[in-house]
Amino acid sequence: MALNLSGKVLQDKYALILKKRISTFKKTPTLAIIQVGTLPESTSYIQQKKIFASKIGAAVKHLILPTNISEKSLISYIKSLNKNKNIQGIIVQLPIPKRLNVYSIIESIDPMKDVDGLHSLNVKLVSGGDEKRGFVPATAKGVMNLLNAYHIPVSGKKFLVIGRSMLVGRPIISALLNRDATVMVAHHKTKPTDLIKLSKMADSIIVAVGQPLFFGPSYFRKGQVVIDVGINLAKKGLREEIVQKNNKLKLVGDVDFEKVKKIVKAISPVPGGVGAMTVAALFENLISAYQRQI
Ligand code: NAP
Repeated sequence: MALNLSGKVLQDKYALILKKRISTFKKTPTLAIIQVGTLPESTSYIQQKKIFASKIGAAVKHLILPTNISEKSLISYIKSLNKNKNIQGIIVQLPIPKRLNVYSIIESIDPMKDVDGLHSLNVKLVSGGDEKRGFVPATAKGVMNLLNAYHIPVSGKKFLVIGRSMLVGRPIISALLNRDATVMVAHHKTKPTDLIKLSKMADSIIVAVGQPLFFGPSYFRKGQVVIDVGINLAKKGLREEIVQKNNKLKLVGDVDFEKVKKIVKAISPVPGGVGAMTVAALFENLISAYQRQI
């Protein structure tokens, strides 16, 4: 049976480390989270960030703006936060309504406060290998911290990243390259037969696709490490024993954990895997932002 790469256990350890670091600061590091509208999934993610912040002595300012806000007003709101010396980190909770140009909005965040690492300057720095000056996006940082904590070798090892989004896949690819991994990438145009071949070739596979339980045992072989970044609301039609928890639909990953864990060497669960590490990594970035701004 595979080693369970729990992020939940590590999150508690990170909380203690970050709390200790913050206890030496003169001011409380503060993260502004802008939410446009009230999408329940976003509200739930923000809630997790607030809980973690309260554990470590950081503050979160949760700013809910109306769904019909204009791009101009949103950008001027962000610019006012850029100037606010009591706020060291700013994130816009994604997704935002489609009519708003996400790139223009992210570009209006001061790169020094862009703790999500999505501003083009941070993307350029991180993809160029400069993780000291650029913020590595929290999910990628969380994945790397998870690999590191469980002593999963990266340098010189073959990784397959499935998914190439701006928010998740691409930052993971950059972070792996920065640790000297040999990186293969697959996306929705990758032929299914190639995907299986690439997957079997890899030492470790990182899946960030957004399709509940899509990757079953046929994609994997003995000895591999599987990191499941996907967080999906389980849908009807999936196996009952997986989707039912106290008669409620629950969250599942992109990988069929129950079946795949019987084959591979190690696998991260959903929930309680990468998601937990992502929250901690966001606050690691906030602490770096604070230290750069004092
Ligand atoms: P996204 O923007 O929809 O990107 C999905 C990526 O998967 C795209 O690159 C897409 O390819 C690729 N893809 C889709 N179907 C595929 C298939 N059958 N085979 C191979 N590649 C396929 O999603 P995202 O924002 O990256 O999020 C991915 C998942 O991670 C979601 O479940 C999300 O909820 C989760 N997530 C988790 C965390 C965390 O902290 N754990 C954080 C953020 C997101 P193309 O580029 O060709 O379209």
